[in-house]
Amino acid sequence: MRLNNQASKPRSSHDTEREFGGTLGALCIPIFLPLTVLFLICMSRSPEASVFQWPPLLPSSDELWDPLAPLLLLGWIAFHALLYLMPLGKVSEGLVLRDGTRLKYPINGFHGLCVTGVLLLLFLGLGAPLGHLFELLLPLAVSAVAMSFLLSVYLYIRSFWAPSHALALGGNTGNPLYDFFIGRELNPRIGNFDLKYFCELRPGLIGWVVINLGMLMKEVELRGSPSLAMLLVNSFQLLYVADALWNEEAVLTTMDIVHDGFGFMLVFGDLAWVPFTYGLQAAFLVVHPQTLSWLGAAVIVTLNGIGYYIFRKSNSQKNQFRREPTHPSVARLETIATATGKRLLVSGWWGLVRHPNYLGDLLMALAWSLPCGFSHIMPYFYVIYFAVLLIHREDRDERQCRTKYGIAWDTYCRRVPYRIFPYIY
Ligand code: NDP
Repeated sequence: MRLNNQASKPRSSHDTEREFGGTLGALCIPIFLPLTVLFLICMSRSPEASVFQWPPLLPSSDELWDPLAPLLLLGWIAFHALLYLMPLGKVSEGLVLRDGTRLKYPINGFHGLCVTGVLLLLFLGLGAPLGHLFELLLPLAVSAVAMSFLLSVYLYIRSFWAPSHALALGGNTGNPLYDFFIGRELNPRIGNFDLKYFCELRPGLIGWVVINLGMLMKEVELRGSPSLAMLLVNSFQLLYVADALWNEEAVLTTMDIVHDGFGFMLVFGDLAWVPFTYGLQAAFLVVHPQTLSWLGAAVIVTLNGIGYYIFRKSNSQKNQFRREPTHPSVARLETIATATGKRLLVSGWWGLVRHPNYLGDLLMALAWSLPCGFSHIMPYFYVIYFAVLLIHREDRDERQCRTKYGIAWDTYCRRVPYRIFPYIY
């Protein structure tokens, strides 16, 4: 690992390269991304749904605020915090930290999703107006943004009490703006409650599919039944979220947990960006109903299936290889040695391109937008944004891998020349 590697050559985090445009990025992103969330929600629900409309549609203050929203949001987070603390599921250890210790994490996110699902069905049976989430979207997003800022300020302040080995190497530059944005403390915890791990997959990710269900119920209120397009968007995204929670343990080896500090970038991403922008297709469909043929639906389902297959198989192959390289499912794959003692896969999924998991993810992202038809670009926001994000993330990962593995990484790149798309990129 990069962190282990650096243990033999200690270096101050002050000299790590700044990411996301450095100080300027750290100043602009927390201003522009929250505005983008609100802008996209307004656009998706306007009759024109045009991202190019000028001047852009501005919501009135009435539309932005509803006292119910912060209450719902706080209740939602408290409910998931409670589920997190329940003694459900197993407990796993994270990777070895710089001080040689390993943290313990409860693997019960999927239980949280199931409990939430059962309770929602119960509430729906009792006539709860879930479709009202459509009207509450903007106030909820405003509350989530406000909460992201408050939590990030808390995280920034408390990080000054953390020992130096508990700080992220990239988040301790001494520049307050940048450190606030990128995150100083690697694994901030209140007792055993891990704030970053909790936020990573639970309130935001499960919130996303609940919002989707709210949009579906709104459609039922307006038109009597959900459309095929709405059902597809809901099912695809529920599959994605359920998969992430089913494989929750895998998050313990991701860049977010292992490498990045917990600051505004991750807090806002987890609590505001994901739940309020990833499912915008559903909000769009409430106002812009689409007729989808069965053949069209079959093509889209197949695309999502292929994307999911590539995504799941490649992620599982690497996770298995990292956990147990001698396991029969990976033992026969061709690998190359690195100076760190770890090996790199050069056949199987990881011999096709250097990030096959990103390829699968992008195919799914496209399948989520296609049910919205071709009349507007707005529902394609997610796949366009996601392509940019994954290309940037791939580049970050390549740089980290080159630092970790040096010449072995160059050999891997020569053996597997394409990054994400075979023969294209
Ligand atoms: P990856 O799962 O792609 O992991 C990258 C790491 O894998 C590298 O740092 C390296 O770590 C290891 N690795 C790279 N190449 C090889 C190889 N050939 N053989 C063995 N190990 C290798 O990281 P991400 O966290 O970016 O992605 C995880 C999943 O999450 C992906 O499917 C991605 O699409 C998804 N994702 C989704 C997002 C969303 O918003 N929906 C956002 C970000 C990611 P090491 O060698 O140290 O083990």
